[in-house]
Amino acid sequence: MNALLQVTGLGKRFGGFVALDGIDLDVKQGERLGLIGPNGSGKSTLVNCICGTLRNEQGSVRFADQPIDGMAAHQRTRRGLARSFQLPRPFASLSLAENVRMPILYTVNARESGHLHGAAIDARCLEVLALVGLADKAALQPRDLTQIEMRKLELARAMAAAPKLLIADEAMAGLSHTEVDEIIALLIRLNEQGVTVIMIEHIMRAVMEFSQRLAVLVAGRKIADGDPKDVVREPEVVRAYLGE
Ligand code: ADP
Ligand code: MG
Repeated sequence: MNALLQVTGLGKRFGGFVALDGIDLDVKQGERLGLIGPNGSGKSTLVNCICGTLRNEQGSVRFADQPIDGMAAHQRTRRGLARSFQLPRPFASLSLAENVRMPILYTVNARESGHLHGAAIDARCLEVLALVGLADKAALQPRDLTQIEMRKLELARAMAAAPKLLIADEAMAGLSHTEVDEIIALLIRLNEQGVTVIMIEHIMRAVMEFSQRLAVLVAGRKIADGDPKDVVREPEVVRAYLGE
């Protein structure tokens, strides 16, 4: 079977600066992939190119057996590609339920030709909030939330699109030890429900607990990709990242 996501020879420049240089990356259906690398190594830029927020000048991206190059970000989301942002971006003046309603209306409903109506949409909003343990806060606004609840809301907003692939970009930064455990458990639970997950993270304990496979970016190049236990012992990975 082909990979769910196939990135081939992806290159991205910002002016004269080469942010990504010939990235190849396959992610299998159902997999949990960790993506690590120093700040500025191009992790978020890669996510942006995969999700269509940025345009790569070189290479191609295939998703669910179709090329998605040139496709707008919202079309990619409708096909099952969702990401959470490093800095949560909720609609500040809307309730949590309304925050997940937006992506439900724009993705799931578009996909199902408007089959969800009224009560069914309300139920779906609560279902999505329940996925991350926020169902009892549906009527609150983002400003009422703690930091970890904000992270959960950000993941819920991505999950509202009922994605095949979820890319979590540093969903744990700034959280306590036990809060990190909670987010790991949440991501693993979503994966067990059938969602393929790419996790970008600096907290190595979380990376090792979560990842079935680990890829490493350094200065826009992928320098390692494989079994996490092997990858973290590779001299180039230790030198370029872990030894910091
Ligand atoms: P990471 O997520 O690994 O920390 P990024 O992908 O955010 O790294 O950034 C990679 C490099 O590209 C950095 O040097 C960053 O300054 C640069 N960069 C990212 N986005 C832009 C942009 N929109 N314009 C110019 N340079 C950018
Ligand atoms: Mg980043």
